[in-house]
Amino acid sequence: MHTSVVGCRMSLGLLFNGLLVSVVAALLWEYSKLREHATVLEEELHMTQKSQDLTKAHIDYHLALQALHEDGTRMVCSSKMHTDRICSFDYLCYCTEADEFVFFHSNSSIMLPNLGSRRFQPALLDMSSVEDHNTQYFNFLELPTAALKFLSKPVFVPDVTFIFNRFNPDNLMHVFHDDLLPVFFTMKLYSDLDDRARLVFMEGWGEGPHFDLYRLLSNKQPLLKQQLRDLGKLICFTKSYVGVSKMTTWYQYGFVQPQGPKANILVSGNEIRQFSKAVMLKMNITRIEEVEKDAGNAGDENKKDEYIVVFSRLTTRLILNEAELMIALAQEFQMKVFKVSLEEQSFPSIVQVISGASMLVSMHGAQLITSLFLPRGAVVVELFPFAINPEHYVPYKTLANLPGMDLHYFSWRNTKKENTVGHPDRPWEQGGIAHLEKEEQEQILASQEVSRHLCCRNPEWLFRIYQDTLIDIPSLLVVLREGMKTRLSFKKSKPVSKIHPGRVRQPQCQTSVQATDKAQLTISWKIPWNVKYLKVKEVKYEVWIQEQGENTYMPYILQQQNYTFSENIKPFITYMVWVRCIFNNNLLGPFADVLVCRT
Ligand code: UDP
Repeated sequence: MHTSVVGCRMSLGLLFNGLLVSVVAALLWEYSKLREHATVLEEELHMTQKSQDLTKAHIDYHLALQALHEDGTRMVCSSKMHTDRICSFDYLCYCTEADEFVFFHSNSSIMLPNLGSRRFQPALLDMSSVEDHNTQYFNFLELPTAALKFLSKPVFVPDVTFIFNRFNPDNLMHVFHDDLLPVFFTMKLYSDLDDRARLVFMEGWGEGPHFDLYRLLSNKQPLLKQQLRDLGKLICFTKSYVGVSKMTTWYQYGFVQPQGPKANILVSGNEIRQFSKAVMLKMNITRIEEVEKDAGNAGDENKKDEYIVVFSRLTTRLILNEAELMIALAQEFQMKVFKVSLEEQSFPSIVQVISGASMLVSMHGAQLITSLFLPRGAVVVELFPFAINPEHYVPYKTLANLPGMDLHYFSWRNTKKENTVGHPDRPWEQGGIAHLEKEEQEQILASQEVSRHLCCRNPEWLFRIYQDTLIDIPSLLVVLREGMKTRLSFKKSKPVSKIHPGRVRQPQCQTSVQATDKAQLTISWKIPWNVKYLKVKEVKYEVWIQEQGENTYMPYILQQQNYTFSENIKPFITYMVWVRCIFNNNLLGPFADVLVCRT
């Protein structure tokens, strides 16, 4: 705790800097290095040339400083659990030298939840969308506002900022799954996290190869942790949010149990597609199919325009007979076949091609996340190297199969050892095994399948997943033909409704006793309110009848809105009855309030 106070202490040499800061702090981007990047920043810069703006900046700065001194930090968070928490802050500060966030206490500060030392067990919240990862925890240290007079003059960030960690900005799958989607939807949660919000990446990495994608999330240039250092010693965010919603993530990477789909997936294809649409709009891309629809000539004659995309990797996990594969695809399906790779095309141009494709074929790998730009009904074919079980690595399968994503996923694996080329002499992170004991190397080379394992350094997994593959074309074509067949049959069927029934209304029961051992129970209800507004193929009702005091119940499926039960109904017994509506056999409505019926 001490180091940070020392770290942020003002030195004489910085006095000039401090003065400068006080004049233009509200427009601090003027003298930050960032201006090179963004036209928006240029505009902001332009404004500072007007003297009244300088005065305004001066006033803004003093108001901010006064607010920080008087009110300190104010924090209000969502959720009882650190893994679901997002916090909203006024005047959260960050000491760049100590690399610590600072919460300033005054008589007016707010800290909700007030966890006491439980704030460290293990942390206040996760700073990335990856759950409970110990490198991603967020916390702050506390100081009284009185300490401000010993610290460097704060530099205020006037924008509403969204502060988080990118999880692995070098890998395209991680960029979309861990950052872009979660951040996009977290921003929808808070109305002031709009186009003008400033994103701040605190994981400490450089821009990375996909920085342009992050720039699509807001109109302002994102700030990297190292750039905060250039701005000053004590950075105070006038208004900020920390924490990322995990609502859209569908995959866990195997940190505590072998990788696989998340236990409770809460996102559907609809939201993913809303996201892709927004991204494409920002990139100025219109789906080819939409252009055609607008022109009114969509239909069978466009079949000739259908095409297949092969997503190629140029450095690792290669398809060794790519040209042969592309020719085979073109011949088999009488379609054009395009090749794309992250190395050779710009990302927007890849999205443009993929957004109109009928089929995407690729080796397992991060580039397959681009299937979220495929049109509905497209086929995804993921190829796996020798000894890798496709069922154990399913991030792209899970994505394609999300309800409403409407993609057809197929996998193919190389089962022929003679068609694989391993790279034992590469560095370990690219699957090299030369550093291992002879015995372990031999075990790896002899194994037929990598067994399930934890992330991230299993040498057998890395060796196998980084093999190059000579694709056995006849066996792949068997899979692809199947894929195309399902696609065509799907295309003919109409899209199904996803709307759930409401509760049945005015449920009632009538009872009668026929004999000492015979009774009847008549149940009736009215249709749910929303049914009359929908074209539903099949409306059915489910009735559960339970004898009071018993654990089990009898379920019935009915077409009509009333029914008289006599089988298994006994006289002088109390029955509990639940009724709900079901659309098309799979869309369940809620149960109406329980009926208590005495015979
Ligand atoms: N990558 C690529 N071409 C290659 C190898 C990798 O474009 O030949 C990209 C890949 O799509 C990902 C990043 O580089 O975005 C890291 O690749 P890696 O093999 O480490 O991860 P994986 O693709 O297995 O997730």
